[in-house]
Amino acid sequence: MSMSFEPGAALPEGFIPLSVPLLGGNEWKYVKQCLDANWVSSSGLFIEQFETQIAEYVGAKYAVAIVNGTSALHIALMVTGVKPDDEVILPTLTFIAPANAVRYAGAWPVFMDVEPDYWQIDPEKLKDFLEKECVRRDGALVNRQSGRRVKAIMPIHILGHPCDMTPIMELAHKYGLIVVEDATESLGAKYKGIKVGHIGDIACFSFNGNKVITTGGGGMIVTDNEEWARKSRYLVTQAKDDPVEYVHHEIGYNYRLTNVQAAIGIAQLERLEEFIASKRRIADAYQRELAGVPGISTMGESPDVFSIKWLSTILVDQKKYGMHWRELLKKMSEEKIQTRPLWQPMHLSPAHSASQSYRIETADRIHAQALSLPSSVSLRDDEISRVTDTIKRNLEHGR
Ligand SMILES: *Cc1c(COP(=O)(O)O)cnc(C)c1O
Repeated sequence: MSMSFEPGAALPEGFIPLSVPLLGGNEWKYVKQCLDANWVSSSGLFIEQFETQIAEYVGAKYAVAIVNGTSALHIALMVTGVKPDDEVILPTLTFIAPANAVRYAGAWPVFMDVEPDYWQIDPEKLKDFLEKECVRRDGALVNRQSGRRVKAIMPIHILGHPCDMTPIMELAHKYGLIVVEDATESLGAKYKGIKVGHIGDIACFSFNGNKVITTGGGGMIVTDNEEWARKSRYLVTQAKDDPVEYVHHEIGYNYRLTNVQAAIGIAQLERLEEFIASKRRIADAYQRELAGVPGISTMGESPDVFSIKWLSTILVDQKKYGMHWRELLKKMSEEKIQTRPLWQPMHLSPAHSASQSYRIETADRIHAQALSLPSSVSLRDDEISRVTDTIKRNLEHGR
């Protein structure tokens, strides 16, 4: 059996997939309304409604629908004033999209370590970096090693769990940095009672097929800043200044979401709370069933947060469990269970080898042990048992 499956690729019969969407609500009905009304493209009532509903849900004043989360990050960086050769600080333990978005804006990522408890960007190391590695020069913060201006911090709430935002926001204020939240994996999560996406200056969501709600592909920028929202809408619509005579003052992008996608999004949003409850039920079941299995630990939840537990991920300690995650992944695959390691940390990614990283230790250790387990909202209890039984059985084999 092959070791890897693309998300969305057809799995063999009987397989438990890592994470698949659930489209059993009003999706069909709303899409049909689009088709019947001939409103299928990049304007339409569903787009406006989807924007309004996401803004309300998060508590933000403005929301701009975008073709995907990566493009949302690109535009968010641009409208907040990140310029070519600026630097943006982000955690190394992430899917590659946010690091790529920084490069699309012509800026450079600086990769930061994560903390050991919840695997999010480490505020202590962030503080050290800003204090020890940067200097103020002509009103800007400059990275001494690169000589570049540090402009923004991009906390990424990975796996559904919020970053420790209080110290991050304090540092941002102290050093005059913009905070762009990558909330793509964490719609609905809360930090000290506030929804992620409404803590920093601007934030991005994704509605890709594997996210907690999906539009097939899609994204959203949310912010309280009217000018940034206006500028975002302008840039994603080809920077069109005169729609009749096609006058453009800037190079824009065709990054809009379509009405059909927004229709799906609205139907998905109707079930978001139910989906989050499912994600948490699954994570709780894994935690309960795997408690006490030597060498296996589950991801925790900080007392400050409400995590949506988007993708349940365990750490496999090879010494205590008797098997590396690579081997466990193969064993799970033989039992028709799809699992997956976390992303190669960005400081090790050949695609970003030209970027600086700062004192990375913890991210490497987590990456060396992490394995994500099936987490579809439709996952049944008997399937969860199949997953945990297989993990327990392999412990005995490993010994
Ligand atoms: C999914 C994801 C994105 C990008 O979203 P797309 O809609 O797939 O472009 C960005 N950042 C993180 C951390 C993600 O997981």
